[in-house]
Amino acid sequence: MKIAIFNESIPGIIKEDRIFDISNLIPWNSKEPQISLVKLMENYEDLKLEVDDYILKANSYPLEDVVLRPPVPKPGKIIAAPVNYYLHQDEMNEQFDNAEYTIEKLGFFLKAPSSIIGPNETVKLPYKDRRTDHEAELAFVIGRKAKDVPASEAWKYIFGYFALMDITVRGKEDRPWRKSFDTFTPIGPWIVTADEIENPNELGFKLWVNEEERHSANTRDLIYNCYQFLEAASAVMTLEPGDILTTGTPEGVGPITKGDIVRIQIDRIGEFSVSVDYK
Ligand code: MN
Repeated sequence: MKIAIFNESIPGIIKEDRIFDISNLIPWNSKEPQISLVKLMENYEDLKLEVDDYILKANSYPLEDVVLRPPVPKPGKIIAAPVNYYLHQDEMNEQFDNAEYTIEKLGFFLKAPSSIIGPNETVKLPYKDRRTDHEAELAFVIGRKAKDVPASEAWKYIFGYFALMDITVRGKEDRPWRKSFDTFTPIGPWIVTADEIENPNELGFKLWVNEEERHSANTRDLIYNCYQFLEAASAVMTLEPGDILTTGTPEGVGPITKGDIVRIQIDRIGEFSVSVDYK
């Protein structure tokens, strides 16, 4: 199932090129979309049984006529993998000499949840004179409370997947500072539930700046794959329903600037674009 939040924080299901309003099918408070999303995840098995009949009579709109909001509007935390592809490690060492370690030795970092924006919004660059890069990542949302979960069981705790851009000011400051400016975490275009992703560790994905392809990669090359990353994260902190984990960027990071359109596409999930401006 493709689950989106649109317009005035209305919940929707996407079928082909239409979005179906499911706000009368599930308990949902548009003023508290994150809490409502967590409830939806708890009740997902019921939703699955009822949704096909419901959408026969539900209000629906062409996708192009609605504004998609961030599919996970306000997670308790965003847990992000640092260097998690070897070729990205190589490029960071060539350019910045600061990517000595992977998750094994460096652990992971937190991005501020307030940095989230939705598809089609605008990334606001805080500096005109500092390099700020795109990073393209597969991210997922936690569906069940998780602590000390082995990789072999991790799939049970993942509700669904989506695309995430980890916008980053390059420099010597700690990662949470460089990656947590407002607008620095575009996510979307919707959540694809885990039951539709046969293997999240085998997904091709790309990112373009304007028409130029910058990333072209596959999650099979992750150093810590989705399940191993969940194991590592849940060994440290309790993962709550609605938390986001993002798996790290492959090689190809590069600067973005005012006027750019940045587009991300992940197989089986979808794509979205954001524009770029100065703050
Ligand atoms: Mn990243």
